Amino acid sequence: MLADTLSETLQRIENAADAAQRPAPRLLAVSKLQPAAAVAALAAAGQHAFGENYVQEAQAKIAELAPSALEWHLIGHLQSNKADVAARTFDWVQTVDRHKLIGALSRYRPAELPPLNVLIQVNIDDEASKHGCHPQDIPALARAIAAEPRLALRGLMAIPAPHPDPALRAAAFSRMKALYDGLAAEYPQVDTLSMGMSDDYALAIAHGATMVRIGTALFGARPTRSP
Ligand SMILES: *Cc1c(COP(=O)(O)O)cnc(C)c1O
Repeated sequence: MLADTLSETLQRIENAADAAQRPAPRLLAVSKLQPAAAVAALAAAGQHAFGENYVQEAQAKIAELAPSALEWHLIGHLQSNKADVAARTFDWVQTVDRHKLIGALSRYRPAELPPLNVLIQVNIDDEASKHGCHPQDIPALARAIAAEPRLALRGLMAIPAPHPDPALRAAAFSRMKALYDGLAAEYPQVDTLSMGMSDDYALAIAHGATMVRIGTALFGARPTRSP
């Protein structure tokens, strides 16, 4: 079942990339609030990279699934007081949006692990309710990340506002692509533009996403979060 959904989703991703004449993006399977067994089933079907929103939930799940060699991404907001656990637990943190996190993640990344892969989260629609930096803060954050040997700057991440009008969503994706191209021109190691979720990943791919983050379309509806 999950294996069929995975192969259908990969096919849709490939079709969207073909239509846009772009390379197919990577699939990040968003497993927040899904049990470890669901992750194990998708991993058995060949999925390698998983995204989690909550540090403690992820920590327990990752421990339960060890020693599987899966790749784990933090895609939820990171509080500074959880930076030490995040730096030890994840392979990627996609939600770096302020200077304070950079020093903390770098300090706590264990020496025996490879550098932590980092994306800068951008609040592309300037929503008061959303995390992420302003586009004009990207250069300074990128410089600070690139200066840390324990961090690897890989690119940008965004969660555009869920505008009902697809033209407005497309405009946000396209602004992200321009910011990403600017960053990649300056930093050759930058190779990741993370945008697009279950409802809009084809549109994100058309505008140059190199990684799509998909939960519901893979796993089905999420259980609600216990308080
Ligand atoms: C939950 C979540 C997703 C996946 O959303 P779906 O609509 O279930 O695909 C992607 N990105 C982030 C940041 C999320 O929090």
